[in-house]
Amino acid sequence: MASKQNKHNEFPATLQEAVIHFQDFENCKAFMMGLRWPGGKVKCPHCGSDDVAWLPNARVFKCYVKHPLQKFSLKVGTIFEDSPLPLEKWLPVMWMLVNAKNGISSWEVHHVISVTQKSAWFMLQRCRLALQDEKYGGKIGGPGCEIEVDETFIGGKARNMHKARKERALAGKGGGYVGKAGVQGMLERGGKIRTAIVSDEKLVTLMPNVRVEPGSHVFTVRSAPGSGWRVLGRGPTAG
Ligand SMILES: [Zn+2]
Repeated sequence: MASKQNKHNEFPATLQEAVIHFQDFENCKAFMMGLRWPGGKVKCPHCGSDDVAWLPNARVFKCYVKHPLQKFSLKVGTIFEDSPLPLEKWLPVMWMLVNAKNGISSWEVHHVISVTQKSAWFMLQRCRLALQDEKYGGKIGGPGCEIEVDETFIGGKARNMHKARKERALAGKGGGYVGKAGVQGMLERGGKIRTAIVSDEKLVTLMPNVRVEPGSHVFTVRSAPGSGWRVLGRGPTAG
């Protein structure tokens, strides 16, 4: 018998179970928590602080750092964010798409979770897109797969900057990243691509984004001691 504590982490095996499972908001919450904050530590999407509390009545988190949008929902930063439809309806659709061997139609969704056929069509479209790029937690690579990792800083246009900021940026102060957007790219050779927005090019920032399946070979343009990554064009050993 599973204990009450891990009941919410079990994954339903049939569609009927999925619909019943996700009717319970606590199960939706556990599922979203696992997806958004795999380590279990909830972080504010606006400031990154983990000084947050769950407000059960409002069903939102509250960040204790003072800034606008201190409250955030389980949907923030996901494909469900701007939808008025609840997770109790979205998650069974996700379940259906992942598990249906022969695909599912908007008619089925319409019937199973009681939404209009128009909503059902919209939900399917959105879930399909999300599953395609798997940017919500999917790993890339696999045994023997080769993955290239690189990062680049795309300059903010100096003419759009505030005067003081422009001067700092042009003087190269602030670590050289002032006014620039950092993008880290991970390319599976002949396969999928992942990107992440980064604030600097320190290894501690970059490494957690590289989520690959065991057995993948990771290549990078510069050495990353202790990472096990290989440097492109410099032989097979990690820098
Ligand atoms: Zn915050």
